[in-house]
Amino acid sequence: MTSIPQWFTLKGMNVKFWGVRGSIPHSLDTQNWVLHIEKIMADFFKSGYSKSEQIQQFIKSKSLAEIGGFGTATTCVEVSDGDNSILIDGGSGIKSKSDQSDYKGQKEFHILISHFHFDHIMGLPFFTPHFMKGYTIHYYSVHPETEDIIRSLFKKPTFPVAFEGLGAEIKFHSLKAHEKNQVNGFTVTPYKMDHPDLCFGFRVEKNNKVYAHAVDNEAVRLTKGALGVDAGLYENADLVYFDAQYEEADMQAKKGWGHGTCDRGFEICSNFGLKQILFAHHDPAFSIEDSWGQKKKASQAYEKKYSHLNLKWDFAYEGQTVKL
Ligand SMILES: [Zn+2]
Ligand SMILES: [Zn+2]
Repeated sequence: MTSIPQWFTLKGMNVKFWGVRGSIPHSLDTQNWVLHIEKIMADFFKSGYSKSEQIQQFIKSKSLAEIGGFGTATTCVEVSDGDNSILIDGGSGIKSKSDQSDYKGQKEFHILISHFHFDHIMGLPFFTPHFMKGYTIHYYSVHPETEDIIRSLFKKPTFPVAFEGLGAEIKFHSLKAHEKNQVNGFTVTPYKMDHPDLCFGFRVEKNNKVYAHAVDNEAVRLTKGALGVDAGLYENADLVYFDAQYEEADMQAKKGWGHGTCDRGFEICSNFGLKQILFAHHDPAFSIEDSWGQKKKASQAYEKKYSHLNLKWDFAYEGQTVKL
């Protein structure tokens, strides 16, 4: 039995985004943070505020991402039913989960691995439950080489602690692609993504809710016909978490790089009749303002072609929770 993290409130399905960046962790450098803070301070006064007691009121009038950006850590998502949870990938965002778990008593973790690009596994050696006796970490993946690769993360000279010296018990489980697998009480079906190295998205089901995890994904296949056996990922999904690292105008140059766009996500929602999508795997080359610029372009594309869908859509930000 695992403990119940703070952000769980009711039955159904809750999704928490511990890391939403793509490819490599990225924060602004010091100088650009200062420029960003300068802009926010100017906005404070332009908005008619003048006293320090009004700071909270000003912040509440903005979205969190306007003030703090969309996040710096790479991909890690947690899906919970209120009693149990599973983690999807161990990018640098898993460190925040680790920090939280250390003192909340959760002693068993279930981690799905989509593929082995660095941004999806780089946080694993820093997930502290690995080092603690009495803890158990279960890894699940379609890839048969998963155990070898996870073992290789804990190895000198790139990491000081050997796999054999880990305090926790580590267990490896195989997932079957295109089949319903049971993972800690969740039904998980892996589907193939459009990505240069074999990568799987996950359909996660519990309590009549469906979460469709679709990064890293260029989404070259957009229709049910083109997706074929992989169309099952999106059918009746309550929330799609979708790779939008790039902008459609850049896709000619970035063809084959394995990442998608907001436009492609809208198209998927249109083709499958879906109602909610969050865009992520944010481009590490983007500043906060660049990401807001990308969002503005997505908004224009949505208004022009997809507004009839009445979609609930947004950019995911680090630390965000969504209840389904
Ligand atoms: Zn990635
Ligand atoms: Zn990748």
